[in-house]
Amino acid sequence: MRFPEFFKRQLTIARVYGIPVRIDYRWFAVVALSVWLIASNLQKPIQLGNVLLPPHAPATAWLLGLITTAGLFLSVFGHELAHALMARAEGIEIEEIVLHPFGGLARLKTDPQNPRAEFRIALAGPASSFLFAILAFVATKIAAIGDYESTVVVFFLIAAGNLLLALFNLFPGYPLDGGRVLRALIWRRTGDIKDATRKAGICGILIGGMLVLFGVYILISPNWRAAQPYFMSVWSILVGLFLLDTALKVVKSAQHARLVTVSDAMSPPVTIEPGLMVTRFVDDILPLHRQTSFPVAVSGRLHGILSLEDLKSLPRERWATTSVQAVMRPVKPGFFVEPATTLDSAQSVMKENGVGAVAIVNARGELVGFLQRGSIKRRSRTKPR
Ligand SMILES: [Zn+2]
Repeated sequence: MRFPEFFKRQLTIARVYGIPVRIDYRWFAVVALSVWLIASNLQKPIQLGNVLLPPHAPATAWLLGLITTAGLFLSVFGHELAHALMARAEGIEIEEIVLHPFGGLARLKTDPQNPRAEFRIALAGPASSFLFAILAFVATKIAAIGDYESTVVVFFLIAAGNLLLALFNLFPGYPLDGGRVLRALIWRRTGDIKDATRKAGICGILIGGMLVLFGVYILISPNWRAAQPYFMSVWSILVGLFLLDTALKVVKSAQHARLVTVSDAMSPPVTIEPGLMVTRFVDDILPLHRQTSFPVAVSGRLHGILSLEDLKSLPRERWATTSVQAVMRPVKPGFFVEPATTLDSAQSVMKENGVGAVAIVNARGELVGFLQRGSIKRRSRTKPR
């Protein structure tokens, strides 16, 4: 779905616990629609279980429509805030909370580091919605005992809204909360977040497609004609398309990241022998290769990595008498990965290991390639799959 840029602009309305709360302009159309729908229905008699509510005067109906919509707005916000606070408890910073026409989104600065954190953050939203629903149902009962009919309507709609919010979000398709729970479960079982994201995204595509089909079905099916399901139909189609669009993007990017491995991006290793004197290295090898680190190996076996950083501390007069072995960093886990490692994880290895590069060693323990930070983006782009 493409909307004109203006309608995509966002308005910051508040800061809660230091988190900016933004509203998408399109959201106002949804608010107006909600107020109007509630107000026009309240002007007719309504049967709520065993309580018959008399029609309301227009002014009262509009006021109740506004109050109920505000309650629903706070419910969506409370749901997102629950995600955000749980994320913060898991040590993740929160970028913003956005309220858009299809609900809300708590945007995190980084992805959860482990399946347990993902699971907790995903469940916090629906759990809070269930809690709000229970509280509002209790309030409905209390208001019914006291014969406060208008209050009954408000609390009943808020309770129903929260219940729907919780149940709908638990559908097991990414990017819904249920899809994130599914992703966390697959991730925990296989240890592969990319694969988990792809699978949960595929479920999201299926659910989005089903919602679109359902919306079309109730519109054309004679069984539904009496119910005049136009609003529900349009809503179902729009939400379905939104889910389809988001899930498709997620699956595509997960698929791409899954396919690009270090063997796609690595270069053949320029190796140096441990016994080589530093003078020889600086004179003969360094001028030919624009690298900042080199794998040190003997007949295909990795012994360590020599970083130019390490040579800086060595006085020039000792170059002729010092071997590479004496200044290199001896091999350790974090200096090498397997050829099938994804580029993503190799990049985080390089970020952490202090040499800004990583050797690629195959299952037989042979050095088959070398990767350096900075040289990767260009290479992986020239070899798309
Ligand atoms: Zn949620």
